[in-house]
Amino acid sequence: MWTTLANVIWPPVSPLSDEPVLRSGELTAEDWAEVHFIDRPFCRSCGVPFDHPSYDDMDCPACIAKPHVFTTGRSVFVYDEISRPMVLSLKHAGRTDAVAAFGRWMARAGADALKDADALIPVPLHASRLRARRFNQSVLLARAISRVAGIPVDAHALARTRRTGTQGGLTAQSRARNVAGAFRVRAAARGRLKGQRLVLIDDVFTTGATLNACVRALKRAGAENVNAITLARVVKPVDPTK
Ligand SMILES: [Zn+2]
Repeated sequence: MWTTLANVIWPPVSPLSDEPVLRSGELTAEDWAEVHFIDRPFCRSCGVPFDHPSYDDMDCPACIAKPHVFTTGRSVFVYDEISRPMVLSLKHAGRTDAVAAFGRWMARAGADALKDADALIPVPLHASRLRARRFNQSVLLARAISRVAGIPVDAHALARTRRTGTQGGLTAQSRARNVAGAFRVRAAARGRLKGQRLVLIDDVFTTGATLNACVRALKRAGAENVNAITLARVVKPVDPTK
């Protein structure tokens, strides 16, 4: 009843186009056609989409050259001009109506990683950033996935110990340097991470530098395996033959 009442007061609109939809967080048919959802074929490690089916489940050139620290990375859609407003809308406190839908999509994209996972670990914000924004969008996404997949969220295991500034405009190498050592596992969480299979949750996968820095900290604390699921993924054209 409350949902019905809420729908009358705040009619659900698409997080992409603001056009009316039946259920909160849904997209219109036109929106669906515009968003670049990621599907096979893709790199078995980082999940970057390939343009030819014969490469499916192989490693992309970037992963062969420099493997990520996480085991697999999966994302729902390509981060581009079309999807950017949806991702940014997450960071504005008033616009979290789409989170449940994002959680369902992320649970589907990361189904393999979630199958035998012990806990979901949202990428933390620095305390000062959290105070300013009042919420962490990765925690919202992790909770939404948890409701679908039934895996608990451990939002207090990791801490961001350093303000890393903006990653925008940095090269992959500078990004890695920028976040190196910026995360640590809290002393109280060390015992409970030993031998655990964890899934890191974040909103955007850009170069993987932030995810890798988190995984290093989790593995130092004894985590057995860490996969990653993000809502969006920055994709540069990949030709596996080069
Ligand atoms: Zn890859």
